[in-house]
Amino acid sequence: MLVNSTEFFKNLPPKQCRECGKEIDEQHECYMNHCEDCIKIGD
Ligand SMILES: [Zn+2]
Repeated sequence: MLVNSTEFFKNLPPKQCRECGKEIDEQHECYMNHCEDCIKIGD
């Protein structure tokens, strides 16, 4: 189904990093499961 992405994310609870549990900023939504810090560690 088609959902307006802006509306879709606005209705979601904050994403949390699966490594540290930190809230992930929406601007980093492309990384989905990891915050900036954990992405750097894993890189
Ligand atoms: Zn993290």
